[in-house]
Amino acid sequence: MDTHGIMEIEARHSSGVYAKRDLVITHGKGALLYDAEGREYIDCVGGQGAANLGHAHPKISEAIHKQSKKMISCPEMFYIQTRSDFMLQLCAIAPKGLKYVFFGNSGTEAVEAALKFVRYSTGRREIIAAMRGFHGRSMGSLSATWNRHYREPFEPLVPDFRHVPYNKIDKLEAAISNKTAAVLLEVVQGEGGVHPASSDYLAHAQKLCKKHSAMLIIDEVQTGFGRTGKLFACEHYNLQPDLLCLGKSIAGGVPMGAVLISEKIGKLSPGIHGSTFGGNPLACAAGLAALQVQKEEKLSERAAALGSMLLTQLRGIDSPLIREVRGLGLMVGVELKQKSSPYIKGLTERGILTLPAGMNVIRLLPPLVIGQDQLDQVVSALEEVLAK
Ligand code: PMP
Repeated sequence: MDTHGIMEIEARHSSGVYAKRDLVITHGKGALLYDAEGREYIDCVGGQGAANLGHAHPKISEAIHKQSKKMISCPEMFYIQTRSDFMLQLCAIAPKGLKYVFFGNSGTEAVEAALKFVRYSTGRREIIAAMRGFHGRSMGSLSATWNRHYREPFEPLVPDFRHVPYNKIDKLEAAISNKTAAVLLEVVQGEGGVHPASSDYLAHAQKLCKKHSAMLIIDEVQTGFGRTGKLFACEHYNLQPDLLCLGKSIAGGVPMGAVLISEKIGKLSPGIHGSTFGGNPLACAAGLAALQVQKEEKLSERAAALGSMLLTQLRGIDSPLIREVRGLGLMVGVELKQKSSPYIKGLTERGILTLPAGMNVIRLLPPLVIGQDQLDQVVSALEEVLAK
């Protein structure tokens, strides 16, 4: 079928919740994507953060293929070695104190589970999240998400959620109390416009949680698995969350989410939560292969080196349209003084795929296997569209 036919059918039958781009993508390789017309794109959408390893990584394909011949589904009521291996490895690389794993299938499910776990284990109700924060679109995680366009049509949401300004210690201090079950934060706010936390803020958040016996939930769905130049962004700040939410690139692009749970929260009781697909063998096999690729290809180190170079290059662009360039590793935002959508379109026309974050920010989440020459092309294209 031709490009037009494919777009017409999807446009007719899809739910309508996604703003679509007029591109039919056929395949990818590393940091490149190809469309049905044979055009090549440098992919700075990176599967919205799920493609840290690049597209069609042979080790991930092989792991999925091998596992698929043995068993594709097996619920967590049974033990399987692939899952036990992956649990062991995740806990070994996680920030200190995280001992238990709950597997789900997406980022929002990881957050949803973490919210239930803190309410269950503390007996408290109140959740403090941050303004500009994004944690997902199911009812619990949506209650923690800040953007009113996502929230308002679905109110009333889950009660006892409140939002405080990000990076403002005094506001958090004023909000937290012995009624607080948990504080839920991103280390770098992604959807909210790529805003890294200050180390002071996170250190105080940790201290304040300890003081009030509240739990600290860190949402690394977007920042995890090498994106920011460390395997987990927590490592930049020496943070020790009580719960760590993971998703996106955890399984080399295969749908999976996870919550890593501290000893402080402890073992949970059978039946309080669960998921049919949780700990799925195919996803666990892909996850194990993804961790191996992370190590072998030193993806965190790559993200750190390429990211700091990219930030310098972007900050060097002389354009009155740029308000600020922010980021950590290969999680980068270019905030403009006007709407970003025409520039994102201009970049697409030049073979560069990028993401918005809010109205004014162009967000870059390239696969961490991207080359310096490809990033140079991204910078030149951005220079060009901003000059127009
Ligand atoms: N948390 C964060 C920080 C995210 O960036 C996202 C997705 N952008 C989510 C949660 C939700 O993940 P998912 O779309 O897989 O449900």
